[in-house]
Amino acid sequence: MNPNLNQPVTILKGIGEETAEMLSEMRIYTVRDLLEYFPYRYEDYRLRDLAEVQHEEKVTVEGKVHSEPSLVYYGRKKSKLTIRVLVGAYLIKVVFFNQPYLKNKISMNGLVTVTGKWDAHKQLITANELQLGENKKNNHFEPVYSLRGKLTTKGMRKFISIAYQQYGSLIEENLPNSFLVKYRLLNRKDAVKSIHFPENQDEVKQARRRFVYEEFLLFQLKMQGLRKFEREHSPGISQSYDLLKLKEFIDKLPFPLTDAQKRVVNEILKDLKSPYRMNRLLQGDVGSGKTVVAAIALYASVTAGFQGALMVPTEILAEQHAESLKHLLEPFGIICELLTSSVKGKRRKEILQQLMEGHVHVLIGTHALIQDEVSFQKLGLCITDEQHRFGVEQRRILREKGENPDVLFMTATPIPRTLAITVFGEMDVSIIDEMPAGRKTIETYWAKPEMLERVLAFVEKELVKGHQAYVICPLIEESEKLDVQNAIDVHTTLSHYFQNRFKVGLMHGRLSSDDKDAVMKEFSSNEVQILVSTTVVEVGVNVPNATMMVIYDAERFGLSQLHQLRGRVGRGSDQSYCILLASPKSEVGQERMKIMTETNDGFVLSEKDLEIRGPGDFFGKKQSGIPEFKIADMVHDYRALETARSDAAMLIQSKDFWSTEEYAYLRKYLEESGVLAGEKLD
Ligand code: ADP
Ligand code: MG
Repeated sequence: MNPNLNQPVTILKGIGEETAEMLSEMRIYTVRDLLEYFPYRYEDYRLRDLAEVQHEEKVTVEGKVHSEPSLVYYGRKKSKLTIRVLVGAYLIKVVFFNQPYLKNKISMNGLVTVTGKWDAHKQLITANELQLGENKKNNHFEPVYSLRGKLTTKGMRKFISIAYQQYGSLIEENLPNSFLVKYRLLNRKDAVKSIHFPENQDEVKQARRRFVYEEFLLFQLKMQGLRKFEREHSPGISQSYDLLKLKEFIDKLPFPLTDAQKRVVNEILKDLKSPYRMNRLLQGDVGSGKTVVAAIALYASVTAGFQGALMVPTEILAEQHAESLKHLLEPFGIICELLTSSVKGKRRKEILQQLMEGHVHVLIGTHALIQDEVSFQKLGLCITDEQHRFGVEQRRILREKGENPDVLFMTATPIPRTLAITVFGEMDVSIIDEMPAGRKTIETYWAKPEMLERVLAFVEKELVKGHQAYVICPLIEESEKLDVQNAIDVHTTLSHYFQNRFKVGLMHGRLSSDDKDAVMKEFSSNEVQILVSTTVVEVGVNVPNATMMVIYDAERFGLSQLHQLRGRVGRGSDQSYCILLASPKSEVGQERMKIMTETNDGFVLSEKDLEIRGPGDFFGKKQSGIPEFKIADMVHDYRALETARSDAAMLIQSKDFWSTEEYAYLRKYLEESGVLAGEKLD
């Protein structure tokens, strides 16, 4: 057999079955896998002036031994070897733990180079490496790999070095040459060399730049390829809605649509009409008016003879949506029903029956919507709200309740562009980037818990004006482990504080849905003026008369979540306020509070949130399908991501891509990853 990169690692000298076994645990099976197993950082062996080294930083220094080594044993097999070393003007201590054998190698006045962690207070290096004589690794970066089992860094470096020596020449280029020239990227062979055996920092940087681009481009090609495939191959329905009726509906709304709403409505209508299946993400900050857009889309679908479904993550939200949709749609003869797990017995049967017979036009609900017993007569449009709270699987089940229905995902969590084009890269995106006229920006303040009295006085001032307030706590009940405010206690305290003047309600996830409903109704109708709640009110809840949002222990929430909570106020025409009660200890926490007081823009916040928390945590759950990149970082490398995205889009659309030799490798890649056959990405 001709030598090739797909041969098992055992073909390499020095790699036997046992090593291969260990490597396989790291998903390294072939020579190619080994060569493409990149270091996650580099050891920097350049000599540095101790004056410039930070406390606890790793450093390499060269110096003259200034004392006889002293060796102390303590416990079994434990030892500490100490020497004094003169490094420039510094006389420092260097200690080696559990390497007693070094004692005989070190001699007074000899030259040594040590690498280890610098303790600036004790003027001491805890060393893990010793070189006798001068630094032979000067100007050198050594790769550090993430390893499993008994593999050592040294061993790994050796294996990769052997692999490169024997097989490096077989590494093929996969990027079109024109791209290498255009972006001045290293070719693949050189990049592999530089990433494993760099001479200096710049080589690492260049190699990394190349692989980041490659990784993003391949990923985006898959996404865009899939999108193209879906468009062309997945049969959809062309919904011939009644434009006249739709216009009348829009004219009769209590307010004119914003330009942004008009734009997204048009984008959605176009998708409904087209024979392709709509696969669209609708983003709009809290309060930007997505519900009415959903209503228009649902109405359109019904006038075309189809049914619609709206799935939301919580019962409260389902109820609210059902209420507003009924309010909007029923005057036009559209029958809307609510289905949650608390709709039971005869009522449930009735709804399901009518749904099957097509008498229910729009079904609104929670996960209850995707149960087996639910079947539509002719489902044409599926909408999910806060869709990142649903798994891929749940969304698929809902979709399969109809025959290729159009699909719209709505979210009020502004998704940073980087995530939108990775996680949702195969979707079309509509953005409502404009608030309805007359909205005032919510004034946000950060207060220390000691200032509670003043905060309550502020709340009272709003209540006296006839407004209402939310008070959010992170927990329901007192917790032994956590010293944070809980809703039950705060409810008791505030009830007492405001007694005989205002009524305080309590809401949390453990109430029965009847009780939740009752509390929510009391708050909506202003029988209750203050609602103490956990984050169950986070999404969707709409009480325009509420102008005050107080959040206890605000540092415990992420930025996006705080923004969602804040979005519960500012929904009417009155000035609203948000008060963050927090004394964050960490710098990150303080930073977050500050950002909240500085901006009301959900997109700015979400970008910051992504920066602080990283993509994996952004949605709070792992199920959200965020791709894992081997080397690229979609936050820090977002420019490369943008570039790769537009390049991929350009390639997929160009005729040349599908025919010329230059793109053969990329075509093969798409074929092998199943995209051209319409297989789903995992
Ligand atoms: P969200 O995008 O958070 O779901 P909603 O759809 O709940 O926002 O809208 C928030 C509020 O704004 C609702 O009371 C709704 O009636 C109102 N609204 C929506 N669109 C407009 C508009 N174009 N002009 C004025 N008010 C609007
Ligand atoms: Mg909404």
